[in-house]
Amino acid sequence: MPDNDEPYMGETPPTNVNELLKELGTIAGFKNPDKQDALNKRICVKCAHPAAQRCYTDAGRKEWAISGLCELCFDAIFADDDPEHPHP
Ligand SMILES: [Zn+2]
Repeated sequence: MPDNDEPYMGETPPTNVNELLKELGTIAGFKNPDKQDALNKRICVKCAHPAAQRCYTDAGRKEWAISGLCELCFDAIFADDDPEHPHP
């Protein structure tokens, strides 16, 4: 008889980058109704610089397409997140 002593095999919270990006995109889209316009112009919604010049990785370009933020602004938001209280 198998003895199942696993404490909890239920749902694990999604630590999925795409989920984070979606959330950020929602936030950025909410704060910046011009996001689609920025995407059309291929600029960043935050700094208004050409995204291509400020996205230095493929991931950065994807982030920009989702959130409208260039990679530098995107990273700045993450760095800004909680400077005094780094995640455990
Ligand atoms: Zn930017």
